[in-house]
Amino acid sequence: MCSPSIVLTLLALAAAPSATAAAEVPVGVARVDVTPDGPIRLTGYGNRQTESDGVVQPLWAKALAVGGDEGDGPAVLITVDNLGIPDAMGARVAEAVGLPRDRLAICASHTHSAPMLAGVAPFIFAEEPTPEQQSRIDRYTDALADLLADAARAALADRRPARLAWGVGSAGFAANRRVLKDGVWTGFGVNPDGPVDHSLPVLSATDPDGSTRAILASYACHCTTLGGDFNQICGDWAGYAQERIERDHPGAVSLIAIGCGADANPEPRGQLSQAKDHGLALAHAVSKVLEGPMTPIGPLTQARLTRVDLPFAELPSRGDWKAKAGLANQEGRRARAMLARLDRGEEIPTALKDYPVQVWAFGDDLAMVFLAGEVVVDYAIHLRREADADRLWINAYSNDAPCYIASDRLLGEGGYEVDSSMIYYGQPTRFAHGVEDRVVDAVLGLLPEAFRRQGGGTR
Ligand SMILES: [Zn+2]
Repeated sequence: MCSPSIVLTLLALAAAPSATAAAEVPVGVARVDVTPDGPIRLTGYGNRQTESDGVVQPLWAKALAVGGDEGDGPAVLITVDNLGIPDAMGARVAEAVGLPRDRLAICASHTHSAPMLAGVAPFIFAEEPTPEQQSRIDRYTDALADLLADAARAALADRRPARLAWGVGSAGFAANRRVLKDGVWTGFGVNPDGPVDHSLPVLSATDPDGSTRAILASYACHCTTLGGDFNQICGDWAGYAQERIERDHPGAVSLIAIGCGADANPEPRGQLSQAKDHGLALAHAVSKVLEGPMTPIGPLTQARLTRVDLPFAELPSRGDWKAKAGLANQEGRRARAMLARLDRGEEIPTALKDYPVQVWAFGDDLAMVFLAGEVVVDYAIHLRREADADRLWINAYSNDAPCYIASDRLLGEGGYEVDSSMIYYGQPTRFAHGVEDRVVDAVLGLLPEAFRRQGGGTR
């Protein structure tokens, strides 16, 4: 026999999950076609020299609005088929929609077969785009900001009661792409011993009648099944995953975000059929999560965004830039741009300024982290060590696209994600050691206490 107090405790415990399950939250979803209306330079690969050659798959912006107008108001998460969205566009969309910046999250799929945007990876090509090409890039950048705002507004207008739930599955096509010899980077390939994150968090929004309205999933893998010889507009695996998920769940809008997959490539890669296969595999893995037991979650209770400076290693000197300025490649372009800055009396920044870090919490049930740029897998591993991994969802490629965000381990190994990629993004040099802790500390500073590991904090 139980004492009355124990019975009450048990009843309270039993009631807690069902009370959460019954909680309905205003949710709205929308999708907006963001396919450009003509040829345009695609970004992601530096070897492409011409504008795009047709559309294999339309590009989408999807928006998920959560929360009513009371209290802190609603928040909107946007996913978009593009390499990366610049910080300035997020600010513009938030202002256009009337959302505080910390209540808007924009996650790019990192497809390498979508238009170049002004302000993202400006030195990806050895030669500047022609003025005509640049004007089409600028026009698309401008139009995309308006379309993202349209998507957000449509999702806000669509809000009606729904139930939120989440679960974690897995998909296996992401492979660590950094090949090492004696702990030093030697090139791209498949490194079966390298860390990779195969987890697949999935959030669903369901009508009280049980029909699914939104399915958000995040997977830590480059959206690079298609290579630089492919110059057509396409969402790559993330686009095919969305298409398939929406076909499998009629009436639902599928949103795909990307985790800390900057050092992971889809495997195999190179063919359009493989992009479709990966999309199908992801859609099946998502369905499996939706069919299994999912954890009901309550409303969004916290949305905060902070900014942190990430120091660079020692900057090259004017002499170093001069020595590179004659190169007829991306490195030469960057060197000439740096010299021009110095000639104007400007300083080369010693840190990446105002790197945005965002955390949304759904009560004590789920914390969703949004990191900017191309974040490598070590950040997910590190964050899961410091916080409660079972209630943590980590998105990268969010809110800004400043460059790769290398970890301490990668800084020791060197290679593309550490050094040469910084050229394409127009950053002056690699990061200094310690950047990883700064980013992780910024996340921990935003995470509600309930998500901190008991006795955690060791690195
Ligand atoms: Zn990338």
